[in-house]
Amino acid sequence: MRILLVEDSVDDAELLMLALEEGQFAARVHRVETRTQLVSALADGVWDLMICDNNLPDLDATRAIELARAATQSDPLPLPIIVMSGDMELGKMVEVMRLGARDCLDKAALPKLIPVLERELAHARIARELLQARTTLAHQEQYRLTSPLPGSEGLLAHLQGRLENRIGQAAALLLLQPERTSGDSLRRRGPEAWRAWQMVTAQRLAGICGPSDFLAYLDDGSFALVLADGGDASHLAHRAAGLGVVFEAPFLHDGQPLAVACCIGACLLHGLDSPMVALHAATTALCTVLARHQGGYCLHTPELHRDEQRRRALADTLSQALERNEFLLHYQPQVDARSRVVAAEALLRWHHPTLGPVSPLEFIPLLEESGGILEVTRWVLEEACRQVCQWERDGLPAIDIAVNIPARLFGHGELIPMVRFALAASSLLPQRLELEITEGTAIKDKAATLETMAKIRSLGVRIAMDDFGVGYSCLGYLKQLPLDTLKIDRVFVADVVDSETDRNIVRAIIAMGHSLGLQVIAEGIETPAQRDFLANAGCDLIQGYLVSKPLPAGAFGEMLLHAFASPLSL
Ligand code: C2E
Ligand code: MG
Ligand code: MG
Repeated sequence: MRILLVEDSVDDAELLMLALEEGQFAARVHRVETRTQLVSALADGVWDLMICDNNLPDLDATRAIELARAATQSDPLPLPIIVMSGDMELGKMVEVMRLGARDCLDKAALPKLIPVLERELAHARIARELLQARTTLAHQEQYRLTSPLPGSEGLLAHLQGRLENRIGQAAALLLLQPERTSGDSLRRRGPEAWRAWQMVTAQRLAGICGPSDFLAYLDDGSFALVLADGGDASHLAHRAAGLGVVFEAPFLHDGQPLAVACCIGACLLHGLDSPMVALHAATTALCTVLARHQGGYCLHTPELHRDEQRRRALADTLSQALERNEFLLHYQPQVDARSRVVAAEALLRWHHPTLGPVSPLEFIPLLEESGGILEVTRWVLEEACRQVCQWERDGLPAIDIAVNIPARLFGHGELIPMVRFALAASSLLPQRLELEITEGTAIKDKAATLETMAKIRSLGVRIAMDDFGVGYSCLGYLKQLPLDTLKIDRVFVADVVDSETDRNIVRAIIAMGHSLGLQVIAEGIETPAQRDFLANAGCDLIQGYLVSKPLPAGAFGEMLLHAFASPLSL
């Protein structure tokens, strides 16, 4: 919750902070007191709510609301504004409410503020959800297939008939859906291209169906195929591979060949007692494939069912984790050739109230799917910048801080304002912040990636390529990216002592990084032998369990203090 406070009196601002604290209302408050400061804060556009005084030297509530209107350029005003004043006439109150203020409060009635804020937050949430639902509906309508294929009702009726009459003991249900990224890039070509692809795919799939098979098209954009003779698991995998080839075959649109990667989830119908159980099982398998973000096939099994249940339990509670303060950051040191700690990587941790600690590898993809990754990344950025400044205020050496930025957020319009806000709120020097991106980010959309990277660099913030070597980026492309650091992935470090090939790869990455003027860091260093090899190969920094596991802020501070007094002996 970020509040923009327009208030020139420090005392009144402090009283308000106190009221928020007493009301246990978790919020970050940013105060501005002039017109220029307000315009610049509004341009950042990261506010959930604005509280505004009426009597400022070069501003009153009316002006402030007009400025907010100009900044958001939408009606009704998406930013809830509460006017708080010590001496406001009724006429003025009516005026500001007409202009779009959500409420007017007397400064003497501060306790009223918390219920008003809660009401406004609930209101804003509902408005957001409504907008999202409308957008989704409009989008679905635009992309609906007008195909002669049966829909979900037809599919359920077909499955019902099969299961009731026990026809074809070896039957199987398969759901086929475009892999998300390639589906999205096809959708971006417009509804016409999307429909053309759907029609071609429907025809192609129908062309290879046997007379007893059943093909349907579901509202969520997937094809459902009931194979009369799915056979056993290995036979079904073979059939699925064939279907995948048909699904992924390029098709011509406007003279251009387009292709879409395919995800297939399947279940065997034998032993299942209802169509919904079958649909649920195949959907579970499909979700598993979709989560891998690279297409492929998965057959439903009991273990998959357990995994899916856990996934759901996590996904259901994840949306409240931020509000409930269940996230925290651990910090892992990065040391230079002289074993001095020069930076830390912030690594997110989630302590689930009943399931205990959950790995980021498990919950970050869920956050990405639900869209919650934006708010969590905002929190990580603000918290990491705040913490590194706090260590410095505590008298510890000033180190740099690295924060992971997920590929999905890289082109997001909020990313740059979010980074600017985190820097401004903490007063951290931009060059001490490094954003870690992965090769996946860089290859998604070249022009957009370069533009975002340029904006980040213009702030003075550095960029590191994380997990380097395991992605697919070509060196020619890498050369064009405005990077500062290459992080060698730990898969190459793991075998560096035993594998000549890995040693050669690591030497090549270091040489290449240096020739591009980049700093090179190796992660996952667990043994002195690995450290020695990397130091001899000229690697600039190392990070790994040999130096330290990721630590909570307090323990990291202590480690920093000891390392400062006597450098780490590794
Ligand atoms: P990453 O960014 O490559 O982070 C390094 C991972 O390697 C961390 O795992 C760290 O604990 C682990 N590690 C460090 N040294 C060693 C070592 O010597 N041996 C071994 N075996 N592992 C080592 P962690 O914390 O589980 O994070 C996993 C991944 O989750 C991260 O990989 C990153 O991609 C993602 N992640 C973590 N925090 C965040 C976050 O705040 N935002 C985003 N978007 N992703 C995050
Ligand atoms: Mg990282
Ligand atoms: Mg990494």
